[in-house]
Amino acid sequence: MTDDAAAPICLARPLLPGPDDTRTGCAAARGLDGRPLHAAALKFFWGPMDCGKSTMALQMNYNHARQGRRGLVTTRIDRSLGPQVTTRIGLAHSAIEVTDSLDLRDLVRDAWAEGVRVDYLICDEASFYNLEHVEQMAELVDNYDVDVYAFGLATDFRSCLFPAAQRLFELADEVARIQVEVLCWCGREGLLNARVVDGRVVREGEQVVIGDTMASADVRYQVLCRRHYRSGDLGPRS
Ligand SMILES: [Zn+2]
Repeated sequence: MTDDAAAPICLARPLLPGPDDTRTGCAAARGLDGRPLHAAALKFFWGPMDCGKSTMALQMNYNHARQGRRGLVTTRIDRSLGPQVTTRIGLAHSAIEVTDSLDLRDLVRDAWAEGVRVDYLICDEASFYNLEHVEQMAELVDNYDVDVYAFGLATDFRSCLFPAAQRLFELADEVARIQVEVLCWCGREGLLNARVVDGRVVREGEQVVIGDTMASADVRYQVLCRRHYRSGDLGPRS
């Protein structure tokens, strides 16, 4: 006897007959985007501020869209403070704002109910999401066969993991440090995000405070190597 409760639940989008079905060869095992079903993955791309996370998120969205896949882009507390992903090199894309009450599964289910395919989610600024959102990402991958690509900071200004980032490290199928290096003023690879108030590195306060990396901001963030993060040395130009 098998235990019904242990039977896998699959809510993956049903295969609908379409002109592309003959292309796949084995329609029963593939989704509408041609990828094998149950091959979805949760991937977390992390790096310090200014390392190009949002740029990579939008590039990934573009690359997948070019291959005929359909996705949704979500964000939280983007520096533009609007429902879009913006990048420091000038790219922008409309995005769904992730609020405390937003259920990422509902986002996908509602889209499907309207006949809109969702093959993947691009979740920018994922370290600012709630833990529940990360669990929802895992469920979307496992039970809905939707790929989830999350991008975010690993650590906060105290050099401690953001809760959502920690959960992503724990749950993700794949974790990758973003390769575009951002350098400390000393030339070493930047690793940590220092919060700077009145020209000094602060190490206590709220975990999330909106700031910028521009030198003129009241609260700003500066990426430092571990050595200079620990010593609080902002360099000769600060
Ligand atoms: Zn340094």
